[in-house]
Amino acid sequence: MKTNDIPNLHDLPPRRLAETLGEIVSPPFRVKQIEEWMHVRGASSFEAMTNVPKELRAALAERFTLAFPEVVERTTPAADDSQKYLFRLADGNRIESVYMPMGERTSVCLSSQAGCAVGCTFCVTGFFGAGRNLTPSEMLGQFFTIQHEHAVPMERMNVVFMGMGEPLLNLDHLVTTLDVLYRNLAPKRITVSTSGIIPGIDELAKLGRHPNLAISINAPDRKRREEIMPITRKYPLEELIDALRRFPLERGRDMTIEYVLLAGYNDSPQDAIALARLIRGLRAKVNAIPFNPDPNLPPWMKRPTDAAIDRFVDTLVSHGVRVTVRRSKGREIAAACGQLRGKTEPRSRMSRQAEPTQRGVDRSRGVQLAGEERHRVDRERR
Ligand code: SAH
Ligand code: SF4
Repeated sequence: MKTNDIPNLHDLPPRRLAETLGEIVSPPFRVKQIEEWMHVRGASSFEAMTNVPKELRAALAERFTLAFPEVVERTTPAADDSQKYLFRLADGNRIESVYMPMGERTSVCLSSQAGCAVGCTFCVTGFFGAGRNLTPSEMLGQFFTIQHEHAVPMERMNVVFMGMGEPLLNLDHLVTTLDVLYRNLAPKRITVSTSGIIPGIDELAKLGRHPNLAISINAPDRKRREEIMPITRKYPLEELIDALRRFPLERGRDMTIEYVLLAGYNDSPQDAIALARLIRGLRAKVNAIPFNPDPNLPPWMKRPTDAAIDRFVDTLVSHGVRVTVRRSKGREIAAACGQLRGKTEPRSRMSRQAEPTQRGVDRSRGVQLAGEERHRVDRERR
């Protein structure tokens, strides 16, 4: 993307960056130096590149920018030290990221879009509707800003694309971002979470290197998944499971099945058994995520009691499924990205959808049904 008509070099795929720099910068080792500043150290200005001649830095700064989104808010660290960030993009859009220290490891949860057209009924980002795709510089900016602020050694970093948006509806920019992240992180330390965009999963499968795949299943059967995830009409649950079966998994890796637990809706032992059946034969572990309530979400949606969560998890385990539960504060707030932005956003989802800035997203019919479906389910359950 261009900011004030100056191209951002962080938006270029690594190969194109080398070509672009090669036209202006010589000798070739200087190109390598600049790439290193950008992709390894996460430089957000040419100024920072102290071993590059001043004149060259000035010449580059006239033609290009390296700017990252600006941090506008950081929440007070939670008990587990996790912290949520609100960033402002150059066009005024706002997105969230989460810093999650977890002992030896640190995860950052990144947004991939400034909203989401998929419209899951339990999700604040979905409630506020579609937003544009984030550029590589905007995704990398979230990563490097948080890594720098907390001075996290690169070898401890993990990345999850579980913030705002559907990463597989922003595949080109996601792939560029992954290619840069791979300079610092092994693919197994990056996870892409999807609501089940089948063509995107198949495209991801074709890449030479694969991040971990997490799939938000969230319901034990097609009917309920259609109710809370209207995208199921476009990409049916059975076909999604088939796509997961053909996804190439590296040795020693599992995919993650995410399952948001909604009290009285999908959290019974019978639901756990149905889920175990649904994913039978997949090399997968389940990540159970207790629902995170929000004033913008349907009031019937509640977090299950700890006893109900335990019962659900124990049933899965007794059916041979490996399960983790997201209980720590940071991981829960990460799951519910969009809530910080949501606090100050206009209340009406429909008015936001009418805004002209919402371009570049999948507006196919199945996705557009989201709004209607949300209200229908909402009414039914009240
Ligand atoms: N669009 C992608 C990634 C972002 S959502 C996807 O849907 O997978 C990341 C995770 O947060 C998903 O597993 C989603 O089911 C979960 N989530 C969304 N809203 C939530 C809420 N209110 N409470 C708990 N988890 C939620
Ligand atoms: Fe979009 Fe994921 Fe939220 Fe669904 S859960 S609306 S796909 S961000």
